[in-house]
Amino acid sequence: MSNPSILILPGDGIGPEVMTEVRKVITWFGEARSIQFDVSEDLVGGAAYDKHGVPLADETMAKAQEVDAVLLGAVGGPAYDDLDFSVKPERGLLRLRKEMDLYANLRPAQCFDALADFSSLKKDIVAGLDIMILRELTSGVYFGEPRGIFEEGNERVGINTQRYTESEIERAARSAFELAMRRNKKVCSMEKANVMESGILWREVATRVGKDYPEVELSHMYADNGAMQLVRAPKQFDVILTDNLFGDILSDCAAMLTGSLGMLPSASLGAPMENGRPKAMYEPVHGSAPDITGQGKANPIACILSFAMALRYSFDMGDEADRLEAAIEKVLSDGARTADLLGEDGTDPISTSEMGDAVVAALQASL
Ligand code: NAD
Repeated sequence: MSNPSILILPGDGIGPEVMTEVRKVITWFGEARSIQFDVSEDLVGGAAYDKHGVPLADETMAKAQEVDAVLLGAVGGPAYDDLDFSVKPERGLLRLRKEMDLYANLRPAQCFDALADFSSLKKDIVAGLDIMILRELTSGVYFGEPRGIFEEGNERVGINTQRYTESEIERAARSAFELAMRRNKKVCSMEKANVMESGILWREVATRVGKDYPEVELSHMYADNGAMQLVRAPKQFDVILTDNLFGDILSDCAAMLTGSLGMLPSASLGAPMENGRPKAMYEPVHGSAPDITGQGKANPIACILSFAMALRYSFDMGDEADRLEAAIEKVLSDGARTADLLGEDGTDPISTSEMGDAVVAALQASL
């Protein structure tokens, strides 16, 4: 069988810096574990605009459709802020998500013990936290029609439409149950069935799909209560299934449970391809961080954890993903900190590349 293929799109700002560290990890897996990936690299965002006049060239889009997984750094930056909307760096990212039809966005909120003090919540509430938010990504109120700002009488009215088809809910729900089967077998579905018809349908479909997964415990929660529960007692959850709008908010809320933006990975998955692997793009949650670009200050862990998600969800290498996450845990518990993870005790931060090297050394020590 051919090697798994990965298209790396480093993008802009700190994207290329953190991706360099991921490449070290990929090289280590090849050399030390004999796990070879066919890695290709291309441009996205401002970097693609500079070369091609568009934030994602057609050839790059075609490559993304062919590979087993896309690994993206970050896009955007002040140099591109004044570009026309149609060619802004973010459009490259949106095109990838749309044309690959990546409907399930996975955002883990995982609290490494060594960083539990970093959360704005009390340590005992977040220590050991490991939850996953599955946000439907391609439909709902961000896409529904009609939308726009219209004249009505003597004033204007702004309209967006929350719209979900059964099949859209079903495929997201199915992804959540599949995910739960690999984890702690609990799904909590969040909507507003008390005030929204789309929420009633969401609940019905989630319940129906849940019948196919008798081992998974399904619960339902109104999304506003879900937000409260996330900060009150987040460890009660395993997988949270929710729509595009609520997921946008709940996943950002959950992100802060764990501390720094530099620690947060994500995956966006679509339908299975011919080889059974899902269409997939993995990327850190953070942006291009122009304020620290080129200074060796970026934390590469979010991007490295995104690669760990690729190992788990695209390549069925859960053990290797565990190994990589354990290496990161070890590095952090040994006290290695990039600048974003520093408390106020005056410890010297390590650089982006030193953090990457430390992770590789911990991987090596795990053998
Ligand atoms: P940002 O995530 O780039 O940065 C927010 C803050 O977090 C900054 O202070 C930054 O230095 C810090 N930070 C982010 N990632 C870090 C890391 N790995 N290590 C250490 N510190 C880190 O968000 P922003 O400043 O709002 O946006 C900057 C640019 O990135 C904009 O052009 C925006 O459009 C773009 N953006 C892109 C994405 C993406 O590519 N997915 C996501 C968000 C923002």
